[in-house]
Amino acid sequence: MRPAQATIDLKALCLNYQLASSLSGSKAIAVIKADAYGHGAVECARALEKETKVFAVAFLEEALELREAGILNPILLLEGFFEECELAQIDQYNLWPVIHSHWQISAIEKAKLLKPLTIFLKMDSGMHRVGFFPEDIPVAYYQLLATKKIANTTLMTHFARADELEIDYTKKQYSAFQEVANKLNLETCVCNSPALLAWPEIRSHWVRPGIMLYGASPFEHPQHSTNQLQPVMTLQSKIISVRTLPQGESIGYGGLYTTNKPSRIGVVAIGYADGYPRHAPNDTPVMVAGEKTRLIGRVSMDMLTVDLTDLPQAGLGSDVELWGKNILASEVALLAQTIPYQLFCNIKRVPRRFTS
Ligand SMILES: *Cc1c(COP(=O)(O)O)cnc(C)c1O
Repeated sequence: MRPAQATIDLKALCLNYQLASSLSGSKAIAVIKADAYGHGAVECARALEKETKVFAVAFLEEALELREAGILNPILLLEGFFEECELAQIDQYNLWPVIHSHWQISAIEKAKLLKPLTIFLKMDSGMHRVGFFPEDIPVAYYQLLATKKIANTTLMTHFARADELEIDYTKKQYSAFQEVANKLNLETCVCNSPALLAWPEIRSHWVRPGIMLYGASPFEHPQHSTNQLQPVMTLQSKIISVRTLPQGESIGYGGLYTTNKPSRIGVVAIGYADGYPRHAPNDTPVMVAGEKTRLIGRVSMDMLTVDLTDLPQAGLGSDVELWGKNILASEVALLAQTIPYQLFCNIKRVPRRFTS
């Protein structure tokens, strides 16, 4: 069997959830959209169902997968619904839609529901993707109330730049939001992971941590507040071939690396078809047999190559960690010019193994 796999540490997931919850001092909704950022939504939901009151996913089909697996917690649909006909299942399965557009309010007006809905009303405070502008929120809210089909409304917004600590865009978004929230006297739901970790002055009745549950930092550079996060995913494989090359030999597609001295090269059974980023450059850290070494040469579809010259104890069959508790996914992401969110979401083809 090919040795590549992703190990998911469900205990670390629970500890990260508890950290988010304690930082927030309020109700933390566990965001498990996109198959729990590549970690396995059903398994993560089972691990967290006693910890959290509510889960969040992006859309209806993601929520139905959890219902089919027997998850009973309310589920927030972050993108709301796309078609009127989804309201029947939202009603039936106790899903909480985000309402971000006028047509959705009209759809609720027309719908025949078994029971009143719990909704999250979305304000556009500066992200400028979806949601009602601050000045349009009161009218939208009163229209919703007038349908008599709403049990509970929470006012929400989403930050565009909370991972950027040196600018005040987040504070501006928050004060625009808070002004309306105070007027309407509604419960609020604001904080994502970077807001929870880096903006203690920004809090809300509900929070929506995502990436921090998986133990990765949302910030480009290390922050004190992320020290307590525990990486959940370990992407690992083994050395399947070793060769010694003289100086001046190039390795792999495009000859991206040329040996500058006699070198020992290890081949690892994992590649970009598994989700390891093809754009990871020479010198990206890789852990082999418990020691840090480096990627050399271009990442291929099913394999990549590492430098074993200074690791005489490493050889055929040695364990390799691409990211996990020793090599942080955010470190690899930065070098590959992406973010840990994308690295995790891209994981495919490798079997997942769960530990608790
Ligand atoms: C994905 C998402 C989150 C979680 O964001 P993180 O940065 O992963 O914590 C929160 N709110 C909304 C609306 C989202 O789409």
